[in-house]
Amino acid sequence: MKTMLKVCFFLLLSSTVMVAQSKDPVVQNIIKEATENSQLEKLGHELMDVVGPRLVGTPQMKQANDWAVAKYQSWGISARNEKWGEWRGWERGITHIDMVYPRVQSLKGTQLAWNPSTKKKGVEAELVVLPTVENKAEFEKWLPSVKGKFVMISMNQPTGRPDYNWEEFATEKSFEKMKKDRADQTRAWRKNMSNTGYNGRTIIDALENAGAVGIVSSRWSNGFGVNKIFSARTKNIPTVDLELEDYGMLYRMVEYGDKPRINIVAMSKELGKVPTFNTIGEIKGTEKPDEYIILSAHFDSWDGGTGATDNGTGTLVMMEAMRILKKVYPNPKRTILVGHWGSEEQGLNGSRAFVEDHPEIVKNIQASFNQDNGTGRVVNISGQGFLHAYDYLGRWLAAVPSEITNEIKTTFPGVPGGGGSDYASFVAAGAPAFSLSSLSWSYWNYTWHTNRDTYDKIVFDDVRNNAILTAILTYMASEDPETTSREKSVLPINPRTGKQRSWPTKRSPNRNGGN
Ligand SMILES: [Zn+2]
Repeated sequence: MKTMLKVCFFLLLSSTVMVAQSKDPVVQNIIKEATENSQLEKLGHELMDVVGPRLVGTPQMKQANDWAVAKYQSWGISARNEKWGEWRGWERGITHIDMVYPRVQSLKGTQLAWNPSTKKKGVEAELVVLPTVENKAEFEKWLPSVKGKFVMISMNQPTGRPDYNWEEFATEKSFEKMKKDRADQTRAWRKNMSNTGYNGRTIIDALENAGAVGIVSSRWSNGFGVNKIFSARTKNIPTVDLELEDYGMLYRMVEYGDKPRINIVAMSKELGKVPTFNTIGEIKGTEKPDEYIILSAHFDSWDGGTGATDNGTGTLVMMEAMRILKKVYPNPKRTILVGHWGSEEQGLNGSRAFVEDHPEIVKNIQASFNQDNGTGRVVNISGQGFLHAYDYLGRWLAAVPSEITNEIKTTFPGVPGGGGSDYASFVAAGAPAFSLSSLSWSYWNYTWHTNRDTYDKIVFDDVRNNAILTAILTYMASEDPETTSREKSVLPINPRTGKQRSWPTKRSPNRNGGN
């Protein structure tokens, strides 16, 4: 009885809402609104389930842009889509891959982005694997034999179990043996590829030119059932990625002489050149309308999954923070702007375009907060090399509940990030932009650019934590009597090169992509 009571008491305590140590009513209201009236789940559903993946140049990307503008307007926030360039327009259709000989089995795989469409019935052919060759001449002699065949161009992985699983269950001896065998196999695979006179990319052209009817690859992401899904390089024939074991099964069948045949249906539409946009939302400042706090998260994604953690969750954080701020802090001192950037995945294109097109805004940025590495709660913030970042970020963070800040490791002044996400576009321009960096939740192996980047991976408590953090930092940055310093620190020696690091330079976006 006594223990039961204790347990109940503990549960009560731990389920109480986050408390602000700050007595500031705005901070308290931010937490209250985020906790009691969260819109994150609904926004997540609308963006990931209904709109779906947001590959640059697709109708779904434009649909997302329009959805976000409508959302902001429904919250009383002015918003617009700002055109920054053009891209090859393409729309993903049905992918269906089946083994049809020696028996029938539907396979788990998908066409890569910008894949050229097959006919409705698809293409049926036998599979072949790359031969082991001594030199280019030998490969060129083999090459004509691919005519009318699908070619499997990835190494057949020796195990579909991730290393952490081996570590848990294998004997030490067999784990070490597996790793050694795999390393040897990988080395031999690379050596053989270089013997052909091609690399993993150029060989695709050679195969297509030699009359192959399709390319079958498998880009394992080192987790159970996870593959990275990028873009096709073929011009007229389909390229599909198969999950590790379907690929492995077919590979073994080819090697054992079973002559497997598959049928690939990979439909898509070419849509010509289409415009590309950033979605910008804005709450006008009352005292210093020409100074800006920019909330930042790229809006586009790869399309193997639905882009839930890259960067659906960063998008949700910024949208929810904007919604909350508009509700509890409708008349900010400085202008609060949100940027949902296009085509980050192809080289920070949307944010680089914004920096190039809006020098008047960029030179008056009080602070920018970007989030783009998964669903996890923020655990790292770096001063990005700005000498006095500690002063102001420290001041602002002091208003955030310790339950949130206790998780965050700060590094000051830090070194300026040269890429990786959109904050780098601003840092390169000398603007104080910061990355709210997340706890991984197995991001790199399981969700980043994979077929498993989907709604079920979202950890809403952590996303809510990040929306509260972003809203409070934005509020504090807006209210700060001081304008932030942009003074750069003397950068340290790069241990890799032995030379002093230099500040990253501004780069122009690709405004005419996908050709
Ligand atoms: Zn991203």
